[in-house]
Amino acid sequence: MSNSYRWIDEALTAIHRANWYRSPKSLVGRADAVMQLDGKSVINFASNDYLGLAGDERLIQAAIAATQKYGTGSTGSRLITGHRELHQDLERAIAQLKQTEDAIVFSSGYLANLGTIAALVGKRDLILSDQYNHSSLRNGAILSGATLRDYAHCNVGNVREILQQQRDRHRRCLILTDSIFSMDGDLCPLPQLLDLADEFDSMLLVDDAHATGVLGVNGSGSIEHFGCTGRSIIQMGTLSKALGSLGGYVAGSASLIDFLRNRAASWIYTTGLSPADTAAALAAIRVIAQDRDSRRECFTNRRETLWQNVNWLKQTLVQTLNNHNSRIPYTLLPSHSPILCLQVDRPSTVLQIGHTLLQQGLFVSAIRPPTVPTSRLRITLMATHQPAQLAQLVESLHRIFS
Ligand SMILES: *Cc1c(COP(=O)(O)O)cnc(C)c1O
Repeated sequence: MSNSYRWIDEALTAIHRANWYRSPKSLVGRADAVMQLDGKSVINFASNDYLGLAGDERLIQAAIAATQKYGTGSTGSRLITGHRELHQDLERAIAQLKQTEDAIVFSSGYLANLGTIAALVGKRDLILSDQYNHSSLRNGAILSGATLRDYAHCNVGNVREILQQQRDRHRRCLILTDSIFSMDGDLCPLPQLLDLADEFDSMLLVDDAHATGVLGVNGSGSIEHFGCTGRSIIQMGTLSKALGSLGGYVAGSASLIDFLRNRAASWIYTTGLSPADTAAALAAIRVIAQDRDSRRECFTNRRETLWQNVNWLKQTLVQTLNNHNSRIPYTLLPSHSPILCLQVDRPSTVLQIGHTLLQQGLFVSAIRPPTVPTSRLRITLMATHQPAQLAQLVESLHRIFS
């Protein structure tokens, strides 16, 4: 390579030196709570497949049937040749799950955020964004060209301050927040943010990527969890986490969705979601709806099992790990979700712990800067984790920390 590209190797060297270097690992086998890594069986505590649906036979069969019927690709953008009845069925099912008038499906959650934010606001407008928001919200905000102000994490006082100072100087205003914060596991103060949005004539977009299928009695997400159904809000989310497929969505009023179909560039100028992904996501929403209908018959549904696992692990970690005379100082970050984080002091520490756990057959993500400000072990739970698997994790963590 000529000199113009030498900086790339230098940058890589710097990334290595900071212990920030990352590379993908190949997991082998069908998506599940137990998979193969480097020829070894590992219990998977790093997946976003909260309900264990990505390897579910019903989703797999739906994807196969849709591929047989429609082929592998959707062959074009939705407004040209890429629209199928299947897309419409999925959008209706999402709107029903979310209790909104309509919904629109993007090729990924990332694209949903980029396209939606850039369509809703521009140079004359103001965006308020939680400092720990997902990368797709941040980059959507930057792409829009609006004035971007970060507020302190979950700090409604700070949101009010910024609105008081700056709202009047801008045309439209959009507040952006994750509902469940993806790398922390805590929850945004949604009702208070909604009140502030009303008071200051602002829009609010909530990113339910980790909450859809997880929060709320019907698995609808954060709006249902907080009892805010029916209030004016833009809900986005992904089909790729608890729904076990691929793709993203926005749900809201009929006019909002109609507007996005005409203005969201990341929807208009990209190929429609593949038939297999579309059908799998639709099957996942049907499983969630079935779980809801069977609740009365004392069936334990997947969401209930997931929360049993979450509550057991949280409680047991607090009881088992003793923060005061721990060999390695750590903080169990506040969580209201299947994401539990143990924060430690250095990237090298978290890497070492991740490595030790892996040797013991436990796959847990070591999350480091620049993804997050502080290094942490990020444990994610699934409905399909067995009690003995959770106990094994606790035992290993106990050995490492005390
Ligand atoms: C994963 C994630 C996204 C992106 O969704 P994809 O469908 O994976 O592109 C957006 N927001 C948050 C909070 C996420 O965790």
